[in-house]
Amino acid sequence: MSARDEILALDRAHVWHPYTPAHDESAAPLVVARAEGPCFWDVDGTRYIDGNSSWWVATLGHRHPRLVRAAKTQLDSLSHVALGGLTHEPAARLASELAATMPGHDDPSLAADRKLRRVFYSDDGSTAVEVAIKLCAQYWAQNAAAGAGALRQRFIGLSGAFHGETVGATSVGGIDAFRAVYGPLLFDVLRAPSPSEPEGWARSFAAIERALREHDDIAAVIVEPLVQGADGMRMYGAEFLRALRAACDRADVFLIVDEVFTGLGRTGTFWACERAGVVPDVLCSAKGLSGALFPFAATIVNERVYEGFRGGRDRAFLYGHSYCGNPLGCAVAREVLAVYRDERVLENVARIAPRIERAFAALQERVPSLRRPRALGAIGAIDLGDSGYLADAGWRVYTEARARGAYVRPLGDTVYIAPPLTIDLPTLDELLEIVGESVAAALG
Ligand SMILES: *Cc1c(COP(=O)(O)O)cnc(C)c1O
Repeated sequence: MSARDEILALDRAHVWHPYTPAHDESAAPLVVARAEGPCFWDVDGTRYIDGNSSWWVATLGHRHPRLVRAAKTQLDSLSHVALGGLTHEPAARLASELAATMPGHDDPSLAADRKLRRVFYSDDGSTAVEVAIKLCAQYWAQNAAAGAGALRQRFIGLSGAFHGETVGATSVGGIDAFRAVYGPLLFDVLRAPSPSEPEGWARSFAAIERALREHDDIAAVIVEPLVQGADGMRMYGAEFLRALRAACDRADVFLIVDEVFTGLGRTGTFWACERAGVVPDVLCSAKGLSGALFPFAATIVNERVYEGFRGGRDRAFLYGHSYCGNPLGCAVAREVLAVYRDERVLENVARIAPRIERAFAALQERVPSLRRPRALGAIGAIDLGDSGYLADAGWRVYTEARARGAYVRPLGDTVYIAPPLTIDLPTLDELLEIVGESVAAALG
């Protein structure tokens, strides 16, 4: 038996794959042996371009040499200790360095208590959101104005939003295919239409304003800034975020931005909310934050939120994961931030963005039945139809692309790319060419 067949036999017998039907016989998974830069190789040595940065984490490509070195160096002195009553250099320095990247950190007109300076570490995007939810709920539980009516523990979320997999993150999420089966397990969230609707964001904003006016129990509004990723790269304008920030201020409700996908340069600025000039109260980061080396996440909050927990044990945030502030994750995340600075990664995004935009616009000329070509930063997307997440056509494109040497997993009817931000132009052009040919072949 070849190594590939042996691995596949064990896999088939024992591994449960995410977002995959059980006993899926349609296509055996690729058996990946190695990854580097924008590509990975299977056990037979065939190369594939990683068209989605392995579910959006490899923003600096795979195994960036500086990140690998940082991890190895850290491993030689300290791999883990608890963060309760203990601290270490990587956690302390990373928190300070993250604070210095936050939107508004250098804005003298921004009140000191609105600066995002306090970092709570966790494990992945879902837990970064879970932390945000619990922090806001507890803040209002212990800081509501005297005589305030209802307990402020309700959230406003958007249709089409994705915030992760835990029950809390699923509750604030707004993709029916991921929610329906859990029914009453999910807590009640006030839902506004997606701001990415073709009619524009005004309807979504009006619904949020109405909810803020009619309900006195709102803790926070949570959004993915500018791009609703998992629902098919649905994009909306910066004006929505600005209007939302102002509405949250008027109602004195927290604004949580989930930058798990959009952060670290994906949309062209380091954080997507910078494009709108908006400073949130809480910002969630994960995925690219640890450069596709380890699961690692941070929830960064402003001083006002942190001050709401001042006091005795009874006011503390009684929350923390086993690997909270893991030194390996912190050390690698520090190096990630340094690589963005030293290698001018955002300049490469500016270089590749127009090519992606042109290629997706050209796709529609090639196959006129395609809809809504769109692009932002290092994201390009197009819809094959309107059949939603469980549609088939995207998978035909996936199969065609795989045969041509690219990993282009669809989001239902949406075909998209979100390659490593460090991708070189020849490899990017090759990827775009494969996407074009694969779409034409699948729909032709
Ligand atoms: C992927 C994602 C999450 C969840 O992150 P995990 O690391 O998969 O738990 C949360 N929010 C957004 C916007 C995401 O794209």
